[in-house]
Amino acid sequence: MADGGTGNEPGSRPWDVVLRLRDVHKSYPLGPVHVDVLKGVDLAVRRGELLSIMGPSGCGKSTLMNIAGLLDRPTKGSCILKGGDAARMSDDERTAMRNAHIGFVFQSFHLLPRLTAAQNAGLPLVYRGAPDGEIRERAAEALDRVGMADRGGHLPNQLSGGQQQRVALARALVGEPAVVLADEPTGALDPATGDEVMAMFEALCGGRDVAVIVVTHSAEVAARCHRQTRMAQGLLVEAPTAESTAAGGHEGTVP
Ligand code: ADP
Ligand code: MG
Repeated sequence: MADGGTGNEPGSRPWDVVLRLRDVHKSYPLGPVHVDVLKGVDLAVRRGELLSIMGPSGCGKSTLMNIAGLLDRPTKGSCILKGGDAARMSDDERTAMRNAHIGFVFQSFHLLPRLTAAQNAGLPLVYRGAPDGEIRERAAEALDRVGMADRGGHLPNQLSGGQQQRVALARALVGEPAVVLADEPTGALDPATGDEVMAMFEALCGGRDVAVIVVTHSAEVAARCHRQTRMAQGLLVEAPTAESTAAGGHEGTVP
């Protein structure tokens, strides 16, 4: 498959693509040798898309998310976010792009324990140097969006796991990102609470402004996504759905 079979359905329009990985490689040194974790990943993610990535532990899912989120650089290949190639940016430019366009959600929430829900939600704007009043206002809006408007004054340890993940989602959304990268976001939650988080991602993508990539070990979570992919042997391949199998598969291209 020329383009990994990921992101190339007929009728897709190139201007809809918010994130594009091309031939992404990543190697880590291991003593005298190096380990090739990613061996040429291609992926195009469109506005409003909800995409899942599955694959066994250690296959490189988080490595890929870190590159897509501009936390790490590929050894080779390009990562184009909103038209700019992050692989060619300086560290400062990448940080600015990340702050402006990416939101992260992690399995273990990663909230700062001494900050309230509202302060945690507002953190990306603090890093942007926004005025206090604006941060408070937008953090409150983001908490409202995830159904946590009445918990803004709570500390993380006063919230359930599901509530903490909602706050983390508010933090991911407060800066109006183009892409939310969620690395096993339901991994620490019971199935019902995980369903609630997935329902939020669905609603978010329904608004068409944000694309969400969900790394998951759960077939149920993956099944709720618009498109399912799987990492294998350092590559990302489209996981066949009943629909695509019936249609005989597609090989269109995004220029
Ligand atoms: P997954 O998220 O799919 O479980 P990871 O992306 O975390 O997998 O890791 C993929 C592989 O890369 C693993 O073999 C891991 O040990 C290795 N790896 C990840 N980060 C580093 C690093 N900073 N240095 C060396 N090896 C790493
Ligand atoms: Mg991982």
